Amino acid sequence: MGKIRLDKYLADMGIGTRSQVKQQIRKGGISVNGVCVKSPEYKIDTEKDQVEVQGKSLCYEAFEYYMLNKPKGVVSATEDKWEKTVLDLLVSKKRKDLFPVGRLDKDTEGLLLITNDGMLAHELLAPKKHVDKTYFVKLAKPVSEGDLKQLERGVDIGEKEKTMPAEARRHGQEPKEVFLTIREGKFHQVKRMFQAVDNDVVYLKRLSMGSLELDERLAPGEYRALTQEETERLK
Ligand code: URA
Repeated sequence: MGKIRLDKYLADMGIGTRSQVKQQIRKGGISVNGVCVKSPEYKIDTEKDQVEVQGKSLCYEAFEYYMLNKPKGVVSATEDKWEKTVLDLLVSKKRKDLFPVGRLDKDTEGLLLITNDGMLAHELLAPKKHVDKTYFVKLAKPVSEGDLKQLERGVDIGEKEKTMPAEARRHGQEPKEVFLTIREGKFHQVKRMFQAVDNDVVYLKRLSMGSLELDERLAPGEYRALTQEETERLK
């Protein structure tokens, strides 16, 4: 990561706004490698220097990664004038540059990765990468074996080409419940795929994205940081 200003380092770590941390530095509350530093522009080597705030040592993290079980009624945006956003749910976040990796519709639940790692987001979202996304879908009408085959082969959702090959399987014996895995991420894709076989989605939840699986212990609206292993598997 290299060197960054002390005030930016502290603001990035969620200690306060840039002006708040400047004041804190000038008051003498911050030490670097055991020595009090009073200048906000002091350059910190994020890999080597040990920064302490009122005696408590910080560990600089350039990136944060969270999995959120997105609830219904919340929009997948960083900010919105009228609606609650997925970022409003992340109360313990440190970084201010976090964003959701892709979008789930307002009425869709489930796995949403939230990070400030733009490179990883690009890898997961680039259309050519074909990252698998698995959804649990409840339908208005029973789904036939023929429908499942059609969804797997590709259906016409009004784009230039049919949808790419997918995997569709019934949830046990439930006639109106399906697990669908797709490798694209077109706008309202799952809903449009079921419309193409004359059905309607009444409930939609994303269960996984690439190697990342929703932690079922997270109730809708809850989130947790990814483990190091989860982060590494995604890269
Ligand atoms: N497909 C949809 O139709 N909606 C979503 O939120 C995600 C995939």
